[in-house]
Amino acid sequence: MSELAATCALCGNENDLAAIAVEPKDDQNVALCATCRAGVEGEITDAPHWRCLSDAIWSTDAATQVTAYRLLSRLKSEAWARDLLDIAYLEPENLEWAEAGLVDDGEPPVIHRDTNGVQLAAGDTVTLIKDLNVKGAGFTAKRGTAVRNISLVADNEGHIEGRVNGQQIVILTEFVKKS
Ligand SMILES: [Zn+2]
Repeated sequence: MSELAATCALCGNENDLAAIAVEPKDDQNVALCATCRAGVEGEITDAPHWRCLSDAIWSTDAATQVTAYRLLSRLKSEAWARDLLDIAYLEPENLEWAEAGLVDDGEPPVIHRDTNGVQLAAGDTVTLIKDLNVKGAGFTAKRGTAVRNISLVADNEGHIEGRVNGQQIVILTEFVKKS
Protein backbone atom coordinates (compact mmCIF):
# COMPACT_ATOMS: atom_id res chain seq x y z
CA MET A 1 0.00 0.00 0.00
CA SER A 2 1.38 3.38 -0.91
CA GLU A 3 1.22 6.30 1.42
CA LEU A 4 -2.06 8.16 1.35
CA ALA A 5 -1.99 11.48 -0.48
CA ALA A 6 -2.69 14.62 1.53
CA THR A 7 -5.51 15.88 -0.63
CA CYS A 8 -8.46 14.44 -2.49
CA ALA A 9 -7.33 13.44 -5.99
CA LEU A 10 -10.45 14.93 -7.53
CA CYS A 11 -11.35 18.05 -5.58
CA GLY A 12 -8.31 18.84 -3.39
CA ASN A 13 -10.24 18.59 -0.13
CA GLU A 14 -7.95 17.67 2.78
CA ASN A 15 -10.50 16.19 5.14
CA ASP A 16 -11.62 12.63 5.67
CA LEU A 17 -9.53 11.05 2.94
CA ALA A 18 -9.60 7.36 2.16
CA ALA A 19 -8.04 5.33 -0.63
CA ILE A 20 -10.40 3.73 -3.08
CA ALA A 21 -9.28 0.98 -5.46
CA VAL A 22 -9.97 1.84 -9.08
CA GLU A 23 -11.49 -1.43 -10.23
CA PRO A 24 -10.67 -3.75 -11.81
CA LYS A 25 -7.09 -2.81 -10.89
CA ASP A 26 -7.11 -3.56 -7.17
CA ASP A 27 -3.56 -2.25 -6.75
CA GLN A 28 -4.41 1.20 -8.14
CA ASN A 29 -5.83 3.66 -5.65
CA VAL A 30 -7.03 7.19 -5.54
CA ALA A 31 -7.31 9.16 -2.32
CA LEU A 32 -10.78 10.67 -2.15
CA CYS A 33 -12.66 12.85 0.31
CA ALA A 34 -16.01 11.74 1.69
CA THR A 35 -17.99 13.74 -0.88
CA CYS A 36 -16.11 12.27 -3.82
CA ARG A 37 -16.29 8.76 -2.36
CA ALA A 38 -20.04 9.07 -2.01
CA GLY A 39 -20.27 9.88 -5.72
CA VAL A 40 -17.98 7.05 -6.72
CA GLU A 41 -19.66 4.45 -4.56
CA GLY A 42 -23.26 5.54 -4.57
CA GLU A 43 -25.66 7.80 -6.37
CA ILE A 44 -24.28 10.78 -8.21
CA THR A 45 -26.29 13.85 -8.99
CA ASP A 46 -25.18 17.06 -10.63
CA ALA A 47 -23.79 19.51 -8.10
CA PRO A 48 -21.26 22.36 -8.17
CA HIS A 49 -18.87 20.04 -6.35
CA TRP A 50 -18.39 17.98 -9.50
CA ARG A 51 -16.97 20.89 -11.44
CA CYS A 52 -13.70 19.67 -9.89
CA LEU A 53 -13.82 16.98 -12.58
CA SER A 54 -12.97 19.56 -15.22
CA ASP A 55 -9.45 19.59 -13.76
CA ALA A 56 -9.30 15.97 -12.66
CA ILE A 57 -10.06 14.70 -16.16
CA TRP A 58 -6.70 16.17 -17.23
CA SER A 59 -4.78 14.62 -14.32
CA THR A 60 -1.48 13.00 -15.22
CA ASP A 61 -2.27 10.31 -12.67
CA ALA A 62 -4.06 7.57 -14.57
CA ALA A 63 -6.14 6.36 -11.62
CA THR A 64 -7.40 9.91 -11.03
CA GLN A 65 -8.18 10.44 -14.68
CA VAL A 66 -10.01 7.12 -14.92
CA THR A 67 -12.07 7.96 -11.83
CA ALA A 68 -12.96 11.38 -13.26
CA TYR A 69 -13.92 9.82 -16.57
CA ARG A 70 -16.28 7.37 -14.91
CA LEU A 71 -17.95 10.06 -12.84
CA LEU A 72 -18.39 12.28 -15.90
CA SER A 73 -19.90 9.36 -17.78
CA ARG A 74 -22.46 8.99 -15.04
CA LEU A 75 -23.23 12.71 -15.26
CA LYS A 76 -23.48 12.83 -19.01
CA SER A 77 -27.11 13.85 -18.96
CA GLU A 78 -25.56 17.24 -18.09
CA ALA A 79 -24.22 19.24 -21.03
CA TRP A 80 -21.09 20.39 -19.18
CA ALA A 81 -20.12 16.79 -18.42
CA ARG A 82 -20.68 15.73 -22.03
CA ASP A 83 -18.55 18.63 -23.23
CA LEU A 84 -15.72 17.54 -20.98
CA LEU A 85 -15.96 13.95 -22.13
CA ASP A 86 -15.84 15.14 -25.73
CA ILE A 87 -12.57 16.98 -25.29
CA ALA A 88 -10.95 14.67 -22.73
CA TYR A 89 -8.03 12.61 -23.90
CA LEU A 90 -7.14 9.32 -22.25
CA GLU A 91 -4.38 6.99 -23.36
CA PRO A 92 -6.04 3.99 -25.04
CA GLU A 93 -5.17 1.63 -22.19
CA ASN A 94 -6.59 4.08 -19.66
CA LEU A 95 -9.75 4.53 -21.68
CA GLU A 96 -10.17 0.78 -21.70
CA TRP A 97 -9.62 0.73 -17.96
CA ALA A 98 -12.13 3.53 -17.46
CA GLU A 99 -14.78 1.79 -19.52
CA ALA A 100 -14.19 -1.56 -17.82
CA GLY A 101 -15.57 0.07 -14.68
CA LEU A 102 -18.70 1.32 -16.40
CA VAL A 103 -20.10 -2.04 -17.42
CA ASP A 104 -22.47 -2.51 -14.53
CA ASP A 105 -22.84 1.11 -13.84
CA GLY A 106 -24.84 2.48 -16.73
CA GLU A 107 -28.43 3.51 -16.56
CA PRO A 108 -30.78 0.93 -18.00
CA PRO A 109 -31.06 1.56 -21.73
CA VAL A 110 -33.91 3.82 -22.79
CA ILE A 111 -36.13 1.80 -25.11
CA HIS A 112 -39.02 3.45 -26.90
CA ARG A 113 -42.05 1.25 -27.56
CA ASP A 114 -45.27 1.96 -29.37
CA THR A 115 -48.74 1.30 -27.98
CA ASN A 116 -48.34 -2.41 -28.77
CA GLY A 117 -44.93 -2.69 -27.15
CA VAL A 118 -43.10 -2.79 -30.48
CA GLN A 119 -39.68 -1.20 -30.22
CA LEU A 120 -39.25 2.06 -32.12
CA ALA A 121 -36.11 3.30 -33.82
CA ALA A 122 -35.09 6.68 -35.17
CA GLY A 123 -36.28 7.00 -38.77
CA ASP A 124 -39.34 4.79 -38.28
CA THR A 125 -42.76 5.78 -39.54
CA VAL A 126 -45.56 5.67 -36.98
CA THR A 127 -49.30 6.25 -37.15
CA LEU A 128 -51.23 8.22 -34.55
CA ILE A 129 -53.86 6.06 -32.88
CA LYS A 130 -55.92 8.95 -31.56
CA ASP A 131 -56.52 12.64 -32.20
CA LEU A 132 -53.84 14.61 -30.40
CA ASN A 133 -54.29 18.17 -29.36
CA VAL A 134 -50.88 19.73 -29.97
CA LYS A 135 -50.30 22.12 -27.12
CA GLY A 136 -48.96 25.47 -28.19
CA ALA A 137 -49.19 24.68 -31.88
CA GLY A 138 -52.91 25.32 -32.21
CA PHE A 139 -53.92 22.28 -34.19
CA THR A 140 -55.06 18.73 -33.69
CA ALA A 141 -53.00 15.92 -35.14
CA LYS A 142 -55.62 13.53 -36.46
CA ARG A 143 -55.81 9.87 -35.68
CA GLY A 144 -54.37 7.91 -38.60
CA THR A 145 -51.80 10.57 -39.46
CA ALA A 146 -48.53 8.98 -40.53
CA VAL A 147 -45.44 10.55 -38.97
CA ARG A 148 -42.34 9.73 -40.97
CA ASN A 149 -38.74 9.72 -39.92
CA ILE A 150 -39.33 10.03 -36.19
CA SER A 151 -36.54 10.74 -33.75
CA LEU A 152 -36.32 9.36 -30.23
CA VAL A 153 -36.05 11.60 -27.19
CA ALA A 154 -32.87 10.17 -25.69
CA ASP A 155 -33.66 10.51 -22.01
CA ASN A 156 -37.39 9.84 -22.09
CA GLU A 157 -38.68 6.50 -23.26
CA GLY A 158 -42.22 7.87 -23.45
CA HIS A 159 -41.42 10.63 -25.96
CA ILE A 160 -40.61 10.69 -29.65
CA GLU A 161 -40.46 13.61 -32.03
CA GLY A 162 -41.72 13.96 -35.54
CA ARG A 163 -43.15 16.41 -38.04
CA VAL A 164 -46.90 16.89 -38.22
CA ASN A 165 -48.42 19.73 -40.25
CA GLY A 166 -44.91 20.94 -40.94
CA GLN A 167 -44.14 21.32 -37.26
CA GLN A 168 -41.74 19.30 -35.18
CA ILE A 169 -43.72 18.05 -32.19
CA VAL A 170 -43.20 15.76 -29.26
CA ILE A 171 -45.51 12.76 -29.33
CA LEU A 172 -46.16 10.27 -26.56
CA THR A 173 -45.20 6.75 -27.61
CA GLU A 174 -48.40 5.38 -26.09
CA PHE A 175 -50.38 7.16 -28.81
CA VAL A 176 -48.52 5.77 -31.81
CA LYS A 177 -48.33 2.51 -33.67
CA LYS A 178 -45.33 1.53 -35.74
CA SER A 179 -46.32 1.37 -39.43
ZN1 LIG B 1 -13.03 15.16 -3.18
